[in-house]
Amino acid sequence: MPAKPPRIVVVGSANTDLVVRCPRIPPPGETVLGGDLLQAPGGKGANQAVAAARLGAAVTFVARLGADAFGAAARAGYERDGIDTAHCRTDPAAPSGVALILVDDAGENAIAVAPGANARLSPADIDAAATAIRAADLLVLQLEVPLATVAHAARIARNAGVTVLLDPAPVPDGGLPDEVMAVVDVLKPNEAEAARLTGTAPGDEAVAAAAARALLARGPHLVVVTRGAAGALVADRDGAVAVPPFPVAAVDTTAAGDAFTAALAVGLAERQTPGEAARRAAAAGALAATRAGAQPSLPSRAEWEAFLAASAVSGLRPAAGR
Ligand code: ADP
Repeated sequence: MPAKPPRIVVVGSANTDLVVRCPRIPPPGETVLGGDLLQAPGGKGANQAVAAARLGAAVTFVARLGADAFGAAARAGYERDGIDTAHCRTDPAAPSGVALILVDDAGENAIAVAPGANARLSPADIDAAATAIRAADLLVLQLEVPLATVAHAARIARNAGVTVLLDPAPVPDGGLPDEVMAVVDVLKPNEAEAARLTGTAPGDEAVAAAAARALLARGPHLVVVTRGAAGALVADRDGAVAVPPFPVAAVDTTAAGDAFTAALAVGLAERQTPGEAARRAAAAGALAATRAGAQPSLPSRAEWEAFLAASAVSGLRPAAGR
C-alpha cells in the first residue's frame, strides 16, 4: 500500500436498506409473513465511499442525511470506516433515504426507494465542500442525487484539474446531457447502462466495446464497462481490452458494482494503468459478490490484496470487435 493514501471525494446518495426475506413477493393487496427485518446501510454514494475507505483511500463523503435514527446510524457507520463526514449534512426537513426491499426464496427482489434527503443535495452543498473537492486526487459521482448537483461537482473538479469518475447509475430518462459528458474523465457503466446511454441493446463483448467507443466520442478519455460474471472491458482512444472475471461462488451481487467503482477510483488515484486498476477492481467486485448485503459485503484492503495474491494472474487481452 502506498505511503500516502490517495484522497478521494465521493458525492452521492446515502440510504438505509430495510430488507425482509419472504417466501414469495406478494401481489398488490396481499400480505405475506417474512423473516426478521434486516437493517443495513446502502445507497450507491455511501457504498462507494465506504468501499474506497476500506480499500485504503482517505475519503470525504458529501451527502444529505435526515435528522432521524437512520441518518445517525449511517453517519456513525461512515465514521467507523474512517470517512470524513464534515460534509454529510443533516437535513432538518426531509427524512433519510430508505430502500424497502423484499427478497423471495428464489433470490428475486422487489424494491421501492424513498430518496428523502438525497433529493435535496444541492449545488450549494457542493460549494460548501469545494475546498475538499479541489484538493482531491479524484472525485467519484453517481446519479442517485440531482443531476444539477452532480454536474456542478464535476465542473468544480474539472476546473481544478481533479479527475472526475462517473458511475452513471441509474441512467436518467433522456440519457446524459452533453454538458455532463464533457466534464467526465472516466465513465464506468455496467453493460445495461452502457446500452441505455447509447440507445442500443446489451449484448456480447463486441457490443460492449462498440458502446464504449460511442461513449468515448462524447468526452470521457476512459470508459470501463462492467459485465457481471463475464468481467469488464476497458476502452480508451488506443483501443479496448477485456478484463477477465475472478471466478467466485457468488452469493449476492448487491454492491459488486460499487466495490468495482471504488477500487477503480483507488487504483487510478494511485496512478496504476487503467488496465491494471480495472483488473484489481474486478477482484474487489468479485469479493463483494461472495457476501450478502451492500456495505457489509465490501472488502478491506488486506482482504483485497490477499485475494489478488492468491488468484492466478489472468492477463488482459484485446477485446472482441473492431
Ligand atoms: P452492477 O452491480 O453495477 O450491475 P456488475 O454486475 O457488472 O455491476 O459487477 C461489477 C463487477 O463485479 C464485475 O465487472 C465483476 O468484475 C465483478 N462481479 C460481479 N458479479 C460477479 C460474479 N458473479 N463473479 C465474479 N465477479 C463478479
